[in-house]
Amino acid sequence: MASRSADLRIEGVGKRFGEVAALDNVSLDIASGELLTILGPSGSGKTTLLKVVAGFERPDSGTVRIDGTDVTAVPPARRDIGMVFQNYALFPHLTVRANVAFPLEMRNVTSAEIDRRVGEALALVELTGFDRRLPKQLSGGQQQRVALARAIVFNPRLLLLDEPFGALDRKLRETMQLEVRRLQRRLGLTTIFITHDQEEALVLSDRIAVMNKGTIQQVASTTEIYERPANDFVADFVGESNIFHGIVSGPGTVTLEGGRQVRAARATETGRKVGVLMRPERFGEGANIFAGTVTEAVYLGVSFKLRLRCDDGLELIVRQPARGGLPAQGTRVTVGIDPDSIHVF
Ligand code: ATP
Repeated sequence: MASRSADLRIEGVGKRFGEVAALDNVSLDIASGELLTILGPSGSGKTTLLKVVAGFERPDSGTVRIDGTDVTAVPPARRDIGMVFQNYALFPHLTVRANVAFPLEMRNVTSAEIDRRVGEALALVELTGFDRRLPKQLSGGQQQRVALARAIVFNPRLLLLDEPFGALDRKLRETMQLEVRRLQRRLGLTTIFITHDQEEALVLSDRIAVMNKGTIQQVASTTEIYERPANDFVADFVGESNIFHGIVSGPGTVTLEGGRQVRAARATETGRKVGVLMRPERFGEGANIFAGTVTEAVYLGVSFKLRLRCDDGLELIVRQPARGGLPAQGTRVTVGIDPDSIHVF
C-alpha cells in the first residue's frame, strides 16, 4: 500500500460549548509519518480536538492545515482521514468484507480494485479468511481490527484513533497496541492516538501531547515527558511521582517548603521558585539522604512500593526491587537519591 501520509498543523484552535472552553488556543504540529498521542484526563478536550481535525466540529477560532492546505471549512468526507473509535461502529448487518469495502465504494473504486485492496487491508490486520463473517461473529479485538482495516483501506492521509482499545481487556489491549504501532510504521501513516492511559501513551508514541482543561501542557518525546515534565500537572499525570516545591537557594541546591535542603544538579537560577520531581524508582544510593518510617508497603511482583514518613514530616513514595521480605509497617528505612536524578521545573 503506497503511503500518502501528510503533515498536520493545528494553529490557535478554540472551541467553546457554552461556558466550557473545550479547546483553548491549541496549537500542535505533527510530522508526516509520526505517531502522536494525545494524553489527558476525562473532559480535557481530546475528543473535541480530534473532531476538529476530522471536520465533525467547526472550531470558533484557529485553523487546521493538512500538507499546508487549510481544511478548516472542508467537510469530513473530503479530508481523506481514516478513523477508529472506542465503540467499534462497524455496520452490524454487513459482512467484514462489506464493512472494509465501504469507504472504497463511497469513492467509486472499481470492484476488481476493491477486492484487491480489501484483501490487502485484511491481510495487514491479520484477518485473512474472515471476509464473510458478521461483526457479531467476531471477538472485540477482531472487531477493532476490522475497524482499523476499514480506516486504512482507502489509503488515508491521516489516521485518527480515539481510545480504540478502551473496551478490550489488558492483554488484548497490549497486543493491539503493538500491532497498531507495527502497522503505522510499516505504512508510514501520520497518526493521532487519543488515550487517557499513560502506559499506552508511553508504549505507542513518537511524541506525546499532554492535555488538561482544553490546553496543551507539554508536547515532547516519551522520555522527555517522563524524565523532564514541564509542570506539576504533567509530572503528576504521567507516572508515579514525588513532587515538592521550593526555592533555588544556591547553585545545585533547593530549599523545599518545610525547610529541608536537597542537592539537585539542574537547579541553577538562584532565587527561582521551582517544582522538584523525584521518581519513586530513582531512590537507592545517593547524596540526598531520607531517613524515615514505613507507613505502607505493597508487594507488586517486580518491586516493593513503600510509603515513607521522614523524620521532618516529608512523605515519600519509594520503589525498591522486590528482594527479601516486604518491610513491615514501622520499619526504619534510609534511602538516597542522586542530585542528577532529581528533575527541577
Ligand atoms: P473523555 O476522555 O472523557 O472522552 P475528552 O478529553 O475527550 O474526555 P471532550 O469530549 O473533548 O473531552 O470534552 C471536553 C469538554 O467539552 C468537556 O467538558 C465536555 O463536557 C465538553 N463538551 C464536549 N462536547 C460537547 C458538546 N457537544 N456540548 C457541550 N459540551 C461538550
